[in-house]
Amino acid sequence: MLTKERCDLCGSGELNPVYTPPGSRRAMVVFLCRRCGLMQSLRGKKAHDDRDGVTPGSEARSMQASSGADWGNIRYGKGFRTAPAIELLSKHIDLSKIKSCIDIGSNRGSFIKALREINATVVVAAVEPDSRVTGDYAGMDNVNTINTCLEDAPLDDVSFDLAYSCHTIEHVDSPTESLAVTWRVLKPGAILYIEAPRLDLIEAPDFLEEFFIDKHSFHFTEKILLKYLYNAGFEILNHGETGDGENIALVMRKVDKCESLPPDDPGEVSRGEELTRKYKANLLRNREAMKGVGAFINSLTPVGGKESGRVAVWGAGRLFDALIRYGSLKEGAVSLLIDRYLVKYMDETNGFRIVHPNAVSGGSAGADIDTVIIMSRAFEAEIRQEIEENFPSVSRVYAFSALLGGAL
Ligand SMILES: [Zn+2]
Repeated sequence: MLTKERCDLCGSGELNPVYTPPGSRRAMVVFLCRRCGLMQSLRGKKAHDDRDGVTPGSEARSMQASSGADWGNIRYGKGFRTAPAIELLSKHIDLSKIKSCIDIGSNRGSFIKALREINATVVVAAVEPDSRVTGDYAGMDNVNTINTCLEDAPLDDVSFDLAYSCHTIEHVDSPTESLAVTWRVLKPGAILYIEAPRLDLIEAPDFLEEFFIDKHSFHFTEKILLKYLYNAGFEILNHGETGDGENIALVMRKVDKCESLPPDDPGEVSRGEELTRKYKANLLRNREAMKGVGAFINSLTPVGGKESGRVAVWGAGRLFDALIRYGSLKEGAVSLLIDRYLVKYMDETNGFRIVHPNAVSGGSAGADIDTVIIMSRAFEAEIRQEIEENFPSVSRVYAFSALLGGAL
């Protein structure tokens, strides 16, 4: 089956469907370009414009840290990327000296605030279509908040020293168009910081969540994202230091249009096929194994002959949703749900009230917790340390990756 749509990167009409995310609210299908290897999600049926997945003014409508394709309404993760981005950028540009910056998809303003700590006089154009999240910084001096998408923003040519685009490019209608605008508004030799989820992540053996969520239209390996950037007229500065296992982070410099572009790499097409094949197999296997994780949690008995022991889950995000969805937990098996970050945006998820760790460790609520299940990969070490320091009643800690490994 071939679609009439074209590849956004190379223009080829030969797109192969390789994956259909179950539960997609937009009937998305993931296609692999047979010429260049780009993976893009296309809608099976046309819905009216709901790029953000929510109708303006209804942010509270579907606050659920879903492990499925409908994840993405909370939009809190970008802030965690600001510190690593500043660190990487600072190796290639003196942020205290720049005069102007465009933040593409400025979201809740984490980068703008950090940049202004370094450089109090920098003039920032904050491009963010969602006016519900820009209130924090919309009135700041030298910040021009533009509540449209980049392609519609009224921006002068060659006007910025730095463009910051963090977890935005995977959402746009066309990365080719978006990067053309970015190139146009930057000064010659100016810097573009661009970060996106690393598609290769999906072959991780403990992957469990839906990667191809409705809000992401484009999925990048490093090679594919670089090809986009070379096509658009950027050269890479951070060879060998391009993010981590979950994120591709590139520091690029605007140059004149490249004379010789890298040829299409047939290896990227077979790479895309291999990634989706592994991904589908891992999802099936790991979701099945979550039954074993749930059974383990159901079987936990109180420590040390106490009348009642209490099990807390720490981490209310996508992995917790997967635990509820696939783990068949018994009523009462988990008595407390803790999350330091999500509690700012959600009161409850899957019928569990979310509590801040300080509210637990400081009061009686946490006094009889004897067991914590950590449902997080990225924050496992941080959570372990906090348990050690502030939760003396806890004698058992189990982390998701080890539980899943045990169940497999
Ligand atoms: Zn292509």
